[in-house]
Amino acid sequence: MKQKFETRAIHAGCEPDSGTGAIMTPIFQTSTYVQESPGKHKGYDYSRTHNPTRTALEKNIASLEEGKYGLAFSSGMSAITAITHMLSAGDHIICSDDVYGGTFRLFDKVLKKFNLEFDFIDLTSLQSLERHIKNTTKLVWLESPSNPLLKLIDIEATARIAKNRGIVTVVDNTFATPFFQKPLKLGADIVMHSTTKYLNGHSDVIGGALVMNDQELYNKLQFLQNAAGGVPGPFDCFLVLRGIKTLAIRMERHAENALKIAQFLENHPKVRRVIYPGLSSHPQHELAKRQMTGFGGIVTFFIKGGLEAARKFLERVKVFSLAESLGGVESLIEHPAIMTHASLPKEVREKIGISDELIRVSVGIENVDDLIDDLKNALA
Ligand SMILES: *Cc1c(COP(=O)(O)O)cnc(C)c1O
Repeated sequence: MKQKFETRAIHAGCEPDSGTGAIMTPIFQTSTYVQESPGKHKGYDYSRTHNPTRTALEKNIASLEEGKYGLAFSSGMSAITAITHMLSAGDHIICSDDVYGGTFRLFDKVLKKFNLEFDFIDLTSLQSLERHIKNTTKLVWLESPSNPLLKLIDIEATARIAKNRGIVTVVDNTFATPFFQKPLKLGADIVMHSTTKYLNGHSDVIGGALVMNDQELYNKLQFLQNAAGGVPGPFDCFLVLRGIKTLAIRMERHAENALKIAQFLENHPKVRRVIYPGLSSHPQHELAKRQMTGFGGIVTFFIKGGLEAARKFLERVKVFSLAESLGGVESLIEHPAIMTHASLPKEVREKIGISDELIRVSVGIENVDDLIDDLKNALA
């Protein structure tokens, strides 16, 4: 019988060290490996190409996503960059309109110069997807739940439309994590992660990963990982591997706390609207129940009173830390329009709904009573 998620999170890719029996994967802090005879080695010749600590992490993440192949990167952005290196000038990419700010910046400010063409569209509409596909479309890029508006995209339907036209579907699964959502099983071709967030979970590493099933895609991406060189160091791989061991219990607590906080905010008179896929008020709650097994740890809400009220509230929280990023054990809170999504032009922000009243919360795994008390005091 196939091992369950919690078991694989702890054991997949991790054998006791053959030389010493060490139970934890050693940090192979080496750049090169001694060869017996020219070209004759134990599978490792140079650490940009392969490193044993990284291999363990790559196998582990692949196992969690129920994919065949994993690749680890020095950041989420370098994982995204590797995918874009598969493209050629003239190719067209369809991307969901409220993607991670850094993804938008890379596509819009860097890759357009290389004559790649992008359409940023509302992928919650399958008609809109169909309408934007061209002969040159090579990639559909989506995040679900999206950041920061927690819109859901039907991964299965999107991937089916793309696959029929020979287009590769990439899902940034950073928010949901494989504990709550498995895009490859829904038909996506590549899953991308910023391991900086939930997978590592302790706000002390920057890292990225890709997982896929298709061997040809893997060969291309592994070639690009080595050719472009955005690889993580062995110590970072060790830290992410260690973080992942507790992913299952962390995600359970993140989601449990997030639902309670979403319910508290939904009933607060100073809150205009709360967005959380686990609330029945979420417009895509049914889709969330269908494609996810839990609703994650991110809650967003609109505070009444404009920028002034948002600023005052954010200055007053004490348990929540006012900071960018998400997915760590500690609760973070932020203002997307000024902080994480400042790289989006104001017109784009307003068009998609990132207003000055929008606040994003990354709910940590502290005691939820302390978190709710903190919000209550800051709102008062
Ligand atoms: C953080 C993040 C990224 C970028 O990852 P880095 O590790 O910061 O390079 C991409 N997508 C999402 C959804 C993220 O939250």
